[in-house]
Amino acid sequence: MTPCSPEGPARERGRRGCGDVSAFDIGGTKIASGFVTLPDENSAHADCGRKPRVEAQCEIPTEASRGGDDIRERLTAFASRQLARARDEGAVIRGIGIAAAGVPDSRTGVIVSATDILPGWRGQRIYDAFAKVTDLPVHMVGDVGAHGLGEAGYGAGRGHGIVLSIGVGTGIGGAIVVDGTLFSGAHGVAGHAGHVPSGLGRGFLCSCGTREGHIEPVASGTGLKDLYNARCDAEEGEPVADGSQVAARAAAGEPLAVGVIEDSARALGECIGGMGNLIDPDVIVVSGSVVKAGPLWWNALRAGFEDSALQLVRSAPLVEGELGGAAPLIGAAVAVRRHVAQG
Ligand SMILES: [Zn+2]
Repeated sequence: MTPCSPEGPARERGRRGCGDVSAFDIGGTKIASGFVTLPDENSAHADCGRKPRVEAQCEIPTEASRGGDDIRERLTAFASRQLARARDEGAVIRGIGIAAAGVPDSRTGVIVSATDILPGWRGQRIYDAFAKVTDLPVHMVGDVGAHGLGEAGYGAGRGHGIVLSIGVGTGIGGAIVVDGTLFSGAHGVAGHAGHVPSGLGRGFLCSCGTREGHIEPVASGTGLKDLYNARCDAEEGEPVADGSQVAARAAAGEPLAVGVIEDSARALGECIGGMGNLIDPDVIVVSGSVVKAGPLWWNALRAGFEDSALQLVRSAPLVEGELGGAAPLIGAAVAVRRHVAQG
């Protein structure tokens, strides 16, 4: 991905004209952007193809410590540069899609909840800020929800009506997509897959503040590290710095690491089975850095899922996401396209 200079990123756009969205993915460490062209089944443009195109991807650092006001201002300045760039190249941008960290209110454009990872992000009025720089329609959803929309529409969940998307990275998140629409719940909180109970998590501090036993603090990438180091202290071994080191040690056959990967993935699989029993999805898509931990992790995840899921739910495929880091940008484009279509 290309870092964006203040003067604007390197130009690399090619085809144009199928209804582009300028998409943004606001995370704890970086704000990514790209022009997304979604396939349009009714389009006369033969070059649209059937896969979304994400072009001119670039990013700026979030610099979260500078506070929410600063992030908002640099986000809209970034958006202005991207729109100017599109204009220069003759592209037709029809909307702006935003995948935002925290819990955004898609209707009002206000960030209603955010963790300490983004101090001052809560309360930011994103639609109001964009209204000062563009007349285009702007629509914002949560980043994990956007990821789910992307995978459901054009990734591993395409063609399925009910998609449960689980992201396992630094934290754990989830999204429920029903017939192409994000199910967000009464408070915009639906899909918080990291905060379902697991006995393995008892005593580990969750990002939501509980120590009573949520799955995230023992099954995210950070969780793998913390679970390993907790057991490592007891056995006086060498601690690890992150989850990928646990996976590497497990791949090298270290028994402690193998046990951590198996226990963590099995517990997460059990939780996913429970979520499956509640939702009865057509497919379950699992994405994020931790899914690269290898067959040991996947086998334990599937074993936990099979133990926990009801027989009919077990028939739902449990598959790896296909879109990688572009998923939230594609999902944000899906969200704004639907928003525009609904008027
Ligand atoms: Zn929690």
